[in-house]
Amino acid sequence: TRSRLVMGNWKMHGNLAQNATLLAGLCAAPRSASGALLAVCVPFPYLAQAAEALKGTTISWGAQDISAQAQGAFTGEVSGSMLSDFGCRWALVGHSERRSLHGETDQLVADKAQAALASGITPVVCVGESLAERDAGQAVAVITRQLAPILALGADAVKKMVVAYEPVWAIGTGRTASPEQAQEVHAAIRAALAAAGAGNIQILYGGSVKASNAASLFAMPDIDGALVGGASLVAEDFVAIAA
Ligand code: 13P
Repeated sequence: TRSRLVMGNWKMHGNLAQNATLLAGLCAAPRSASGALLAVCVPFPYLAQAAEALKGTTISWGAQDISAQAQGAFTGEVSGSMLSDFGCRWALVGHSERRSLHGETDQLVADKAQAALASGITPVVCVGESLAERDAGQAVAVITRQLAPILALGADAVKKMVVAYEPVWAIGTGRTASPEQAQEVHAAIRAALAAAGAGNIQILYGGSVKASNAASLFAMPDIDGALVGGASLVAEDFVAIAA
């Protein structure tokens, strides 16, 4: 059986003082009865702050992006070895905001996932369709296309990854996918992963997850946890999702 993972994506929010409050709140919260593990993906400048604050806890931390390159003249990029220097556990790759606002291609996302693995960091590969794509009946086709270069990395690589299904129309909109809608896509992702020899990795759901809808999502057989944006910025709200 797969363990439950509830991961926060702070996006470009926070500052030293707010982060200190949030991290202290997470550290002080009682362990979840569900046994879910918590993780936070924080902006690069605050990785060290998160590492220090979470030391000795079961809460892990990661980055929101990673370079596909190992080193060199890539101004503004952050490499896997730089992240692993600090003990970074996770890196989001292919978040829809990076795909849409920064032009990241399916192949670049796979290259980033491979770079993460090369530094011992678990990539959390984000996929998801837009509203127009869903309305056109293309949701599973889009996700299959997004996953293709990931699956081409081979079973041994994919087994070390996490996938996050985040329908773009559910991100930051308050309009979460119904558990049945999410499960349908998670099952399709699971089938594609299984065909590639990695059917038992964790698949997280993301998009307007909050405490009031988390339990019904987690009740679905192929939903192994959540990737949480807005509700990860307040300790009590975030912890309640994992309760
Ligand atoms: P929200 O939870 O704010 O909808 O964001 C989801 C997301 O994009 C997490 O990566």
